[in-house]
Amino acid sequence: MIDLHVHTHHSCDSKTTMEEYCQKGIEIGVKYICFTDHVDFNKADDGYGYYDADKYFSELNRVKEKYENHLHILSGIEFAEPHIYKKEFDAFRRRPYDFILGSVHYWIDNMFPGEMLKRNLPIAIVSEKYWEEVYKAVSYGGFDSMAHIDFPKRYYKKCTWSEAQMKDIFSMMVKNNIALEINTSSLRKGLTECMPDKKLLEIYKDAGGVMITQGADTHSAEELAAGYKDARSLISGKLKSTIFIERQAKYEDEWNAL
Ligand SMILES: [Zn+2]
Ligand SMILES: [Zn+2]
Repeated sequence: MIDLHVHTHHSCDSKTTMEEYCQKGIEIGVKYICFTDHVDFNKADDGYGYYDADKYFSELNRVKEKYENHLHILSGIEFAEPHIYKKEFDAFRRRPYDFILGSVHYWIDNMFPGEMLKRNLPIAIVSEKYWEEVYKAVSYGGFDSMAHIDFPKRYYKKCTWSEAQMKDIFSMMVKNNIALEINTSSLRKGLTECMPDKKLLEIYKDAGGVMITQGADTHSAEELAAGYKDARSLISGKLKSTIFIERQAKYEDEWNAL
């Protein structure tokens, strides 16, 4: 199994150590784990100023050495709104991460979707503005995979889009070598489909998309690789399960054969 979207106590919204994840991973048969803690430069976010890269790498190197014969441990971050915090993003890209997830957490007057929901903003407007922001993020690029692409769904239980808009976004991702993440956190929020759902994956394929990364958006050891099989079952046809090592895409099947 694979989980390339894992938050540890280096993220403000998790208390789990890398050690706990590694032990759990070995117990349940995880082969690749990537610790992708939040890096936020949005002052509205609880995580602003929380992440410490030196502490992160010191713990990572310790578990990598300890578990090197048992699982592949990769370094990563989830960088929110890279197209807005360009200078900060560039500085993080120069650090030796294997994998960088890009995400959009805040839009419309710098609000989080939970706040939009409280204020009864209609999903059509929330989605429309969200996709505009995602397009800006993937156009700027510089990261390896786009996290939880239909993110409003996690809060609103649905997300609206037009096929033309999604084609533009996915074509830009293909052009900028950005993989698409299948994020399974929606399955733990009472939804029956992953993020993205099957329809969006079809549009991604039609736009020439191939690279898929898998992540549970894990915040505790019990959630590690949760929904793995659901996500895996969506990787069909031309889509390839992708792992990033030193920011280079490796297709899982080929990597395993090495
Ligand atoms: Zn996120
Ligand atoms: Zn996350």
